[in-house]
Formats: sequence, structure tokens, C-alpha cells
Amino acid sequence: MNGDPAMSLHVRRALPPSLPETADVAVRISASQGYEQSSLGRAAAAWAQFQVHISGRMEAPSATGCTAPSRAERKAQERAQILQRENRRKTLKLVARILKKSERERTAEDVAELRRHEDTVRELCTRQLRRSVLKRKHEEVFDNVEDLRRKVSQLAEAIRGARHLVVYTGAGISTAASIPDYRGPNGLWTQLQKGRSVSTSDLSEAEPTLTHMSIRMLHKEKLVQHVVSQNCDGLHVRSGLPRSALSELHGNMFIEVCTLCSPAREYVRLFDVTERTALRKHGTGRRCVHCGAELRDTIVHFGERGTLEQPLNWKGAIEAAAKADAILCLGSSLKVLKKYACLWCMNRPADKRPKLYIVNLQWTPKDDLATLKIHAKCDDVMRLLMEELDIQVSSYVKAEDPIFNLATPLRPGEENSHTRKVISPSAGPEDCVSGVNEKPLSTAVKGGWFGRGYSKGRRKKKTST
Ligand SMILES: [Zn+2]
Repeated sequence: MNGDPAMSLHVRRALPPSLPETADVAVRISASQGYEQSSLGRAAAAWAQFQVHISGRMEAPSATGCTAPSRAERKAQERAQILQRENRRKTLKLVARILKKSERERTAEDVAELRRHEDTVRELCTRQLRRSVLKRKHEEVFDNVEDLRRKVSQLAEAIRGARHLVVYTGAGISTAASIPDYRGPNGLWTQLQKGRSVSTSDLSEAEPTLTHMSIRMLHKEKLVQHVVSQNCDGLHVRSGLPRSALSELHGNMFIEVCTLCSPAREYVRLFDVTERTALRKHGTGRRCVHCGAELRDTIVHFGERGTLEQPLNWKGAIEAAAKADAILCLGSSLKVLKKYACLWCMNRPADKRPKLYIVNLQWTPKDDLATLKIHAKCDDVMRLLMEELDIQVSSYVKAEDPIFNLATPLRPGEENSHTRKVISPSAGPEDCVSGVNEKPLSTAVKGGWFGRGYSKGRRKKKTST
């Protein structure tokens, strides 16, 4: 190791070319000593020595009043920093390798190294701890049967006692409708973060779940006053929940609007209107019957600000939060919702805020503030809850889906304006008329709001359709 060539090259390059050979030699010796001892402290000592060696020659001109470091000095400093970082990296690697061994496997030399680099050991342990906390936050946890029953009866008690209960829902309530959630282990977001492509079945085939139907019943029984949803799947509307009691903060895939008409004119359709839309590209290709302007979808993508009055209904959401004395969060990671301070009455002192009840399999950033956290699937909780409250939940009947009354039929000539499946009151969804010669399934998988646009700026190249 004595006089490591790479090392002395480093140092020699660091010297101003005008320095005599003696300085070079002195530096090479002291630096190589530091290198041999392979310790951060020693490297620093070597650097200090190096400074002393060159100072006699380098600082001579400064007597004349020139104090700014020369280019050569700056270079020397930079190189010494590189050297320091390199040593640091080596120490980290060494300590990490030793820490991986079980205590029995460690040699006396290993133990001595750990003792020598106590700070590094501490740092690596902290990093490890942080990693495992992060990992735990992504894990799905299930309460055992007893805990679940006890917690649900506590929740039922809270619901009976609440004056103004608001429900916040996320993708977790629609997983039973075969719509993947976002941040669960197989969620859309998780998959995209891992660089995987996302394929889903046609979302128009999804139907309201037991959770959607239960929420609608709770509203009918006046136990829930308002529902704020992050979901664009339109299932709350289709469960029969009145739209006045609903804020769909990120839009509804079945609704397109004309924003030139005043007030904005809504067109509810029986198919996913977002086939051609994406981030900052909302035109659906169809036109307003009244003014002829192009219609737009209502989806709010990551990075966009939702300005539409409906179906977003921010006014309703804010008013509901202001009146709420209890908030029930169902199937949401709350990572997006938590950013809307007005939904949590954060301007009030902690003890004046609504009580928080959370049902989610994973950790949420509001867990610490929650009165109750239930780790279970939403449908399982709602089934038990409705039993506890003694409320009958009618199952979803397609023929009674309110979307058929809300929908505006397409104008003649517009039937070919999309290739998505059309919901029909009969048993199964039917292919749209235009689907005969085209490939509705392949476009469905590419997705408008769901597959392509909803992810954070990760857009596939434009399709020519
Ligand atoms: Zn219009």
C-alpha cells in the first residue's frame, strides 16, 4: 500500500505546477500515510499536514495583500474533498459489511473496526431503522376478529352519537368492485412507482360495492350528512347517493361538461368519457348541444387544480367539514386528502377538531390523530357496522341505477365518438354500437383517466385515434 500510485497522483495533481519537487514528495508521504491508515480522521490529518507543507510556499505572495485562493489552491481543496468522500464511502461499505454478519461470525478485527467507526455504526443503524419504518407503513395489516368486532361497535357508538358525520372515501372502497386501489401493494400508484405498466379491465363494468350501498343507507337514515370522495369511478352516484350530498373531488368518469355555457352544462353519459383525455388535455371530442363548444371531462389529474363546480362540489365539502363533529375515512391512504387543510379543520385547536375514525389496511398520515383506526377491508367493516346499527342494506340493482335517469343520450352521429362499453340496465354491459369493427378492449386497457392520465406526469405517447 505504501505510496499508492493512484493516491499520489491525486495529490500531485492537486499541487500547483510551480511548486518544487520537495513539496510534492512531502505531500505524497503524508497523504499516503493517511491513506494507509484508511480512516477519516487520519485522512483529515493528512490534509492538515498537506496544508502545512504547502503553506510556506503558497502563502508567501499573500504577504503582499492577495488573500483570495488561487485556482491551484481551489483545485487542491476539491481533490482533497474527493479523497475524503472516497474514504467515507469505503468506511461505510466496510462497516455495513461487518454489520450484516451475525455477532458470532464477527472476527476480532471486525469488532475493532466497529469500535473505531462508532459514528458510522450509529448512522447505519439509524438508516436501517428508518427503512424498516417506511416498509411497515406500506404493509397491509389486518385486525384479528375480536379486535375488529370491538372496534366496529365503538365506531357504531360514535356514528349514533355524531351530530354531523362526514365520510371521506378513497380507492380502497372500490377494490371489491375490481378497481385496483392506488397505494396498496398491487395498487396503481405502487405499480407505476415500480416502473411497471398498468392494465385494468374496463372500469365501466364495476358496480357499487357493499360499502357504497351502506354509505347510501347511512345517508338515507340521516346518520351521514356528506360524502367526499377521491374516486372518479362514479360508483357513489350509481349507488343512489344524492349528488347534493356528494363531492367528487377528482371528477367523475361518466360526466363531461361544457364550460362555455353559463352555468357550466353537464352531460352524464353511460360510458367512460375519458378515453381520449389526459393530463392538461381534457377535450372529449363531443360537442355541446346548446353552444357547439367541445365538451371536456371532469377528471383532476395530479398537478392540476380542480376548478369545476360540479361534480367536484368543493363548496359542499368545505361546508360539511366546517360543520362536522366526526369524520369517517374509508379506504384512503389520505396522502392526497391530508393536503387539503380545510377538510380537517386544521385552523382550530386540536381539541375542537372533528373526531377522526379511519378504516384502512395501511398506515395513514392521520393515524396518530385518529380516535380509532381499524385495519380491515371496508366491506368487512361495513357489513359488521350495519349489523351493529341494525340497518338493512339493499344490494345494488342495475335496473334501478340512477345513472340511467341522469344520462343524456348521444346526438345522432355521435354514436361513433367512443369505443367504450355502454352500461345497460339489462344484466351485463353491452358493447357500444361502434365497437363492432373496432377493438374496444385494447383501448379500454390503455385507459383515459385511469391508465394514462391519472399517473404523475407519466404519459405514454399519444395515440392517433
Ligand atoms: Zn355549451
